[in-house]
Amino acid sequence: MLLAALCCLPLLEFGAGGLRGWSQLLVYPDAFRVRRSHVDAAGVLHEWDDELAGEAWDHGPLVLSWADVQADLEEPDTGYCVAVHEMAHKLDVLDGELDGTPPLPAAWHRQWARDFQRAYDGFCAEVDAGAETAIDPYAAEAPEEFFAVATEYHFSAPAVLEQEMPEVAAHLARFYGPSPLRTA
Ligand SMILES: [Zn+2]
Repeated sequence: MLLAALCCLPLLEFGAGGLRGWSQLLVYPDAFRVRRSHVDAAGVLHEWDDELAGEAWDHGPLVLSWADVQADLEEPDTGYCVAVHEMAHKLDVLDGELDGTPPLPAAWHRQWARDFQRAYDGFCAEVDAGAETAIDPYAAEAPEEFFAVATEYHFSAPAVLEQEMPEVAAHLARFYGPSPLRTA
């Protein structure tokens, strides 16, 4: 019940269409390992294990570590919330591409892409320069992670997001509705 409520937070504005294409929520008791592999340019296969708090499969389940969800709930205002992070990936991929942009009307889509790109480039430059950032540097991994991490801040530390990335904060407030933690 609690999990359903958490996962539906990002859908308050978007609606139940955000649940299209998948139906399973898997909960593991703790962080879980997944096997990763990658063939490099020289044709060598690399395999390694990743430890994850959550994962969103294309057309597949949303997977969460209960221990991490609980840690988020114990400190709801730190900018971490794995449940809404994975839901952001689910919304992102609805238009067929996991690229940091969920389905939006055309004009808004252009504006969103421009503002997010600018904020992402600026953030990556800060992280590359070794700066201590107010936002989790994981956001610099890829545009889709930037969107998912910004979503976590929208729901759990909106003041930080508004301070650091006002355009991104404004798009997310429009997309998700006002943050439940926003008191001002
Ligand atoms: Zn992610």
